[in-house]
Amino acid sequence: MGSLRLATVTKQYGDVVAVDGIDLDIADSEFISLVGPSGCGKSTTLEMIGGLTMPSEGQVFIDDNDITDLPPKDRDLAMVFQNIALFPHMNVYENISYGLRIRNTDKEEIDRQVNQAAETLQLEGMLERSPSELSGGQRQRVAIGRAIVRNPSVFLMDEPLANLDAKLRVHMRTELQQIQRELDVTTIYVTHDQEEAMTMSDRVAVINDGKLQQIAPPLTCYNEPANRFVAGFIGSPSMNFVEGTIEGEQFVSETLRVGLDSVALDSVTGVTLGIRPEDIYFADAEPPERTEPIEATVDVLEPIGEKIFVYLDAEIDETAGGELADAQEETRGRSKFLMSAPSESEIEEAESVEIVFDRTSVHLFETATGEAIAHGIAEPTQTPR
Ligand code: ADP
Repeated sequence: MGSLRLATVTKQYGDVVAVDGIDLDIADSEFISLVGPSGCGKSTTLEMIGGLTMPSEGQVFIDDNDITDLPPKDRDLAMVFQNIALFPHMNVYENISYGLRIRNTDKEEIDRQVNQAAETLQLEGMLERSPSELSGGQRQRVAIGRAIVRNPSVFLMDEPLANLDAKLRVHMRTELQQIQRELDVTTIYVTHDQEEAMTMSDRVAVINDGKLQQIAPPLTCYNEPANRFVAGFIGSPSMNFVEGTIEGEQFVSETLRVGLDSVALDSVTGVTLGIRPEDIYFADAEPPERTEPIEATVDVLEPIGEKIFVYLDAEIDETAGGELADAQEETRGRSKFLMSAPSESEIEEAESVEIVFDRTSVHLFETATGEAIAHGIAEPTQTPR
């Protein structure tokens, strides 16, 4: 068993609050990613679970046992780090079995466990090799092997794939997921790479500034981000944001006027509209629920193969918020959007186009707090994608 709970865990270094009151409840066998920008407190959180750093406040539980004060060796967990620390003078077998040998495990048992780990990790033919005779991916698998044979309740991994080249990283993602499923071990995985977090995890915990922003399955973070930070961090390229106000039942900005139908906007004034690049269409493409067309000029085209990124500059709409009094002179009436269009789109730079948003995928946030107000503004407001 290996359920894990953090109860309002905080870590302060002098004036720096590295982790700020994080609560997490992780079920046995779950694969959870801690994701967020560099310096947001991911590694510190992992270190507190592992016992390498003591929390300033709060508690850590495994299976309801308070382990906050236990030293790392008594915690029944194994860690794999970014810098793969294999012993260079030991072969693969000796590296994998190291932890068992220092515990005086008997030789037959060591043999059995190493062979089983080698089979899981497809290292069978390599047990006699030294680390210098292995590729980066194989070395990483040996490091994982060393963690596996300890048979822990919880795996902790801190950017274990960060030092691998892009292709190998994608390959190892899949392998790690398979290994985790096979072993059925609760895994906490730290990464700054939202795509890695999205593709591997049962649930993603998004952290910013030491605070937990949202913990949810990957697609929930994508479709129903709890706030503007999560909306901008999850998904690539990032969501477009437009700040505006509410007039009657409309969102109004410099460039847009979008009818909101039945979205409840009681007492909210400053509103930020969010739309993902993949939810913007050319007006003739007819998404089923669409906003009024917006005139825009194509600034730059970036073909990436299966699609094309279109950098747009939306024109002022005199009937929209053109008259917004407090708008800055230089940004007045202009707004940049990034659109992800089908690669066969016949468009050219400097061309004028008409774009529309899929209304089922328009997000609204309260500008002051960043909290989400609505995901989808069409009737019904929560149309499934
Ligand atoms: P991440 O893993 O998300 O990049 P960290 O958990 O490593 O972030 O760091 C979170 C914050 O705590 C950062 O501002 C970092 O500078 C600070 N920090 C981390 N470790 C220490 C330390 N030992 N002493 C002082 N500040 C630290």
